[in-house]
Amino acid sequence: MELLENKDDVKELVENLNYKEKVERSLALIEEAYERYGDGLVVANSLGKDSVCVWELAKMVSLNIRGFIVTTRFKPTRTVQFMDEVVAQYPDLKVFKNDEDIPENLFEYDPDLCCNILKVLPTRWAIEKMDVSCWVTGLRCTEGRTRTDYKEVEERDKGLMKLNPILIWKEREVWQFLALNNVKVNQLYAEGYRSLGCAPCTNISTEDNERAGRWIGTSKCGGECGIHTRPLKGGLSIKR
Ligand code: SF4
Repeated sequence: MELLENKDDVKELVENLNYKEKVERSLALIEEAYERYGDGLVVANSLGKDSVCVWELAKMVSLNIRGFIVTTRFKPTRTVQFMDEVVAQYPDLKVFKNDEDIPENLFEYDPDLCCNILKVLPTRWAIEKMDVSCWVTGLRCTEGRTRTDYKEVEERDKGLMKLNPILIWKEREVWQFLALNNVKVNQLYAEGYRSLGCAPCTNISTEDNERAGRWIGTSKCGGECGIHTRPLKGGLSIKR
């Protein structure tokens, strides 16, 4: 049976595979998916450590694998600098951003709407414009409370496959891979951040939950921007 059809228990894989086996499994997943979807396979690179890791793995499989970045007007300066460096290194990475006017401080009183407009919409544009049939993410099941129920291969939107090739990696294994392969990361990690997002919604946290520093003080605390939970194909209604 192909790895793409696997029904393996994700939690068991997290604990039972060692670092080398996880790297081999991730490469095999990307390779199989690339063989099946060709240019329709596209990596979503959020510029966080997990995305950077997946981007590196994809490039190990084939330098021709395409990718996109979704950014917002609220990204920290260091993230913008890092994005410029990454795009200079990989000019084929396409950047998507929504510059439409939104109410001031929307992120304070309706972060879901803010994320829908600034993150989910441009992700949908990327999927459509790049004719994506399988998008590849850096999602990991040990990252936080909202990420425990994913699969390595999913079809949450009809006609759009989603590959999560490092789903079973622990945070330590991501850093292990990045260090062993001399992969550059956003310097915000050196300041103590463990999960990176927009400046107004991201803090340094010492809690166990890796995403605990996201959207502190809101109902979204430690949660999701929506690109992994909202539909990315078909009609998306956004209340204004
Ligand atoms: S993370 Fe915050 S600022 Fe960024 S899009 Fe979401 S709510 Fe808006």
